[in-house]
Amino acid sequence: RANVRFENVDFGYENNRQILHGVSFEVPAGHTVAVVGSSGAGKSTLSRLLYRFYDVSSGSISINGHDLRALTQGSLRQHIGIVPQDTVLFNDTIYYNIAYGQPDASREEVIDAARSAHIYDFIMSLPDGFDTMVGERGLKLSGGEKQRVAIARTILKNPPILIFDEATSALDSKTERSIQAELKEISANRTTLVIAHRLSTIADADEILVMEAGRVVERGHHRALLAAN
Ligand code: ADP
Ligand code: ADP
Repeated sequence: RANVRFENVDFGYENNRQILHGVSFEVPAGHTVAVVGSSGAGKSTLSRLLYRFYDVSSGSISINGHDLRALTQGSLRQHIGIVPQDTVLFNDTIYYNIAYGQPDASREEVIDAARSAHIYDFIMSLPDGFDTMVGERGLKLSGGEKQRVAIARTILKNPPILIFDEATSALDSKTERSIQAELKEISANRTTLVIAHRLSTIADADEILVMEAGRVVERGHHRALLAAN
């Protein structure tokens, strides 16, 4: 179990325009915090900083009180699983895409993760649908199915912290509902930062952060926020 803390974080990308302004919040161990706000508010930037694709310009991010910069990249990535909005897959089997970066995982564990994420039927296919067992082209993976591959990776890795970037693109509603159910399952007891677009995700979260132009402008449980507005 891990606690995540942003303290007075400022950040700008290489072009130096400041994007985040004094962002502070905490995700207590095992809690789910949903980040909402209009496009460009800085939601994805938060997740990129937590995964250390970039470093903060000032302020700090810590896990269990340890500054991210004190952790090695490898150890950080063992602690955090990320399910991006657009999962990029290698041109190799879905099995390998799930197992990638987890050399200690057994074949059974990879298969179990694929089953849990409902992606098992694709396990010997390439992302473009070519089935390496049957030697025939089947269905190309949809956006939702690719996101499930990322979910399977996370199940296999079993990290205490999860970043989930909910898709905004049009997934069919059945796929979307099932991915949401999976998110709920894998985020239970994990420290979760979800960039939320769906109302039910927001309603399920322990806390909501509302972002506007790189600042946290409101926070609280959805009932309190509704009552205040
Ligand atoms: P959100 O996820 O809330 O839509 P982002 O965190 O993606 O917002 O973006 C916040 C701001 O940072 C936007 O103004 C966006 O244009 C800018 N931005 C995002 N990624 C980059 C990048 N790689 N380089 C420069 N600016 C970026
Ligand atoms: P790992 O080696 O831990 O798997 P990766 O660097 O491969 O980490 O990235 C993990 C996921 O994050 C990949 O699905 C990748 O597409 C996505 N990703 C990589 N770079 C960025 C970025 N700058 N912003 C957002 N997502 C990214």
